[in-house]
Amino acid sequence: MAPLLEFKNVSKIYNPGKDETVALDNLSFTLKEEEPTILTVAGESGSGKTTLAMLLLGFISATHGQILYKGKDIDNLRGKEKVAFRKEVQAVFQDPFAVFNPFYTVDHLLEVPINRFKIASNKHEAREKMNEALTAVGLQPDEILGRYPHQLSGGQRQRINIARALIMRPKILIADEPVSMVDASLRANILETLQVLQKDYGVSIIYITHDLTTAFHIADSIMVLYRGSVMEAGGVDEVIKTPQHPYTQLLVDSIPWPDLNRRWGQTDLVPSEDSVIGTGCKFYSRCPHAMDVCKSRPGLFQLEPYQTASCYLYKDKPELKTEALSSVLPV
Ligand code: SF4
Repeated sequence: MAPLLEFKNVSKIYNPGKDETVALDNLSFTLKEEEPTILTVAGESGSGKTTLAMLLLGFISATHGQILYKGKDIDNLRGKEKVAFRKEVQAVFQDPFAVFNPFYTVDHLLEVPINRFKIASNKHEAREKMNEALTAVGLQPDEILGRYPHQLSGGQRQRINIARALIMRPKILIADEPVSMVDASLRANILETLQVLQKDYGVSIIYITHDLTTAFHIADSIMVLYRGSVMEAGGVDEVIKTPQHPYTQLLVDSIPWPDLNRRWGQTDLVPSEDSVIGTGCKFYSRCPHAMDVCKSRPGLFQLEPYQTASCYLYKDKPELKTEALSSVLPV
């Protein structure tokens, strides 16, 4: 059976040519339908994580490589297959306010996808679907339906966004910084809701974040991106507890663990102005261990069954093919 999702050597280059920006560089990974998982894609601004989300949603096309959904290139989906893809790959974005129209009640927001994708055959069934989805995300339908956006908290709105996605019975949910604009006190509840979706509804979640602390709490596996390339990947326990790549070490060292409200990347991780070596390690200009050999691009070296790093410090370890990245991502 074809994997649910397959990124095959995907690159996205903006303005190809002299002033090109490589937003995503030769990324390969797969998600299996029978093994729903939470995969974190972590990185600073400019790491390529949002480009990955836009590619997966089909909002932009890859410059090189292919993105396959159930074995079919998403750029070639047409008709019913395209509708199914739109329904089964859902997203929740950072801003819980953006999708709400202040003139409509919550009901309207939930009815739109139900009608568009013909999810219910009558109003009664539509109401049941809404009730079920709201309950699944920890909301009381009677308290929520009929309300206007200004009558709801940020946390409630973000849960409604998740409920809206859940109504479609997605196979994949892209959660792009879903808690970064939500009160700290409500973040844990929303993250728990994502875990419920994975465990009880079999949804694979791609959790995009710059926040390693939340990633650690909810994800099974993690890919750390820097300037469009995977620096380190593996199980969250392995990568966050024992980071091996100098970049991941820098990120983890910057986490003030007792204070979950401080986001890593806020202070000492401003991208350097140093020149980037086009064919070398992308982290070269910031790396305290940089060596001559780093002027050529390192491959992925396998450190543990569930840990790989793109760094010459580990050149004695077996090299992992780019296409085999998923083999180190536990589900
Ligand atoms: Fe540093 Fe070299 Fe490793 Fe890159 S390959 S992270 S420059 S030691």
